Amino acid sequence: MKCPICKHGNTHQGVASITLERGSSTMMFKNVPAEVCENCGEAYHDAKITRSLLEQANQAAQHGVELDVRRYATA
Ligand SMILES: [Zn+2]
Repeated sequence: MKCPICKHGNTHQGVASITLERGSSTMMFKNVPAEVCENCGEAYHDAKITRSLLEQANQAAQHGVELDVRRYATA
């Protein structure tokens, strides 16, 4: 698809690293499937993946995790 951010590049199937913050918890997910813009590097995730990441971040925050780096795994 055409990138809505820079309006120049096209996105391609790839992977990206995502960092989420929940209060004092920082979660980093690697190898998250994404559509990545060839021009500006913006990554787009589908709703199912975004929901899964937010769930995992909320769980980590509840457990008092300060910093967590994990490889994305489909639930
Ligand atoms: Zn772009």
